[in-house]
Amino acid sequence: MRLETRCARAGCLSAEEAGANAPLVPSIAQSAVFALDKAADAEAIFSGSRFGYAYTRFGNPTVDLLAEVLAGLEGGAGALVTSSGNAAILCAVTCAMSGRSGPLVTHPDIYGGSYELLRILGEVYRLPVEIVESADEAAWLRAVARAGAVLLETPSNPLMRLIDLEKTIAAAHSQGAPVIVDNTVATPCNQRPFDFGADWIVHSTTKYLNGHGDVVGGCLIRREPLEKNHRAIHKNFGGTVNALTAWLTLRGLRTFALRMEAHHRNASALADWLAARPEVAAVHYPGFRTHPQGDVFQRQMKAGGGLLSFELRGGEEAATRLIDRLRLIVHAVSLGEPETLITLPARSSHRGMTPEARRQAGVPDSLLRLAAGLESSADLVADLEQAMSSAAAY
Ligand code: PLP
Repeated sequence: MRLETRCARAGCLSAEEAGANAPLVPSIAQSAVFALDKAADAEAIFSGSRFGYAYTRFGNPTVDLLAEVLAGLEGGAGALVTSSGNAAILCAVTCAMSGRSGPLVTHPDIYGGSYELLRILGEVYRLPVEIVESADEAAWLRAVARAGAVLLETPSNPLMRLIDLEKTIAAAHSQGAPVIVDNTVATPCNQRPFDFGADWIVHSTTKYLNGHGDVVGGCLIRREPLEKNHRAIHKNFGGTVNALTAWLTLRGLRTFALRMEAHHRNASALADWLAARPEVAAVHYPGFRTHPQGDVFQRQMKAGGGLLSFELRGGEEAATRLIDRLRLIVHAVSLGEPETLITLPARSSHRGMTPEARRQAGVPDSLLRLAAGLESSADLVADLEQAMSSAAAY
């Protein structure tokens, strides 16, 4: 089935599977525990000789349904659903690094929360982490080739820099290092990391996949079937979800493919409009005419998606003035919601990084990140226009 069909039918049983007169929408198994029946049944379930549910942290029918849909969307063999995108990254890094020596190689312009998570893992658990600038491709590929595992994000958030998946994965695999791709920003609509050989994909399902801003969640998806150890890490870390959260995400997924077209349409229109304004110094959007990595974009992305960032000539002061004057566009973190959202990453999502780390990552204090929502692009442009025009000092 194609992606659009998988989305439209997310979690639904076929008429054949469901039987006559059955509900099309899956039910919500909102229960922490499941009856174990006879002692012999409990023995079979806990020994693993027979599959059965016992406790929602170990497994739940609604959550498993979501995992199956997510794995199918990315073309993976198995998925684990987590309580947030950060929990997914923690689980994926632990799965990928288990049994491996060598550092976890990543780049400085990953999502600020991932950056902080790795800093904590390094400080508390002595996880060896090597942060290498991916724009220096030779240095990046050298580091990747001697990595224990690789965590990368392309396009990066908020700079929209791209990393060549084919070259990076080939270099990592030359020494057997698994590669984790955070595909939250690109989404399976616009980028297919498993086609390039990635081993794991992680998502913050909080964003485009759920798409309604009412759930925090995540997932990790494996190209190969999941192993016992992966399930043990997931279950014992404990960042799992209840059935209701999984069900809401399944409902959001039913319109995911359709919503991505609208997010992309709005982001493209806004990038065009911003680039033509004299107040704007730079627009960062994958696939855009000013984006310096058009060749990488052509090779690995289908469309630019819904996220962009830009800088004003008036710097940070002009950026804060713009935010304060907007009426329709909401000043809020996150992305992939029906509402268009704007932030200053240096003051919000990337605040946990030191100014030095932000400088190394190339995130200027004046950078504005705009997550295009589903409104009319004409209304969004009108809002940006009134906010820019009412501030003469840009
Ligand atoms: N990865 C990316 C690219 C993100 O933008 C975010 C959150 O903004 C995360 C991971 C973390 O997701 P969550 O907030 O669901 O933990």
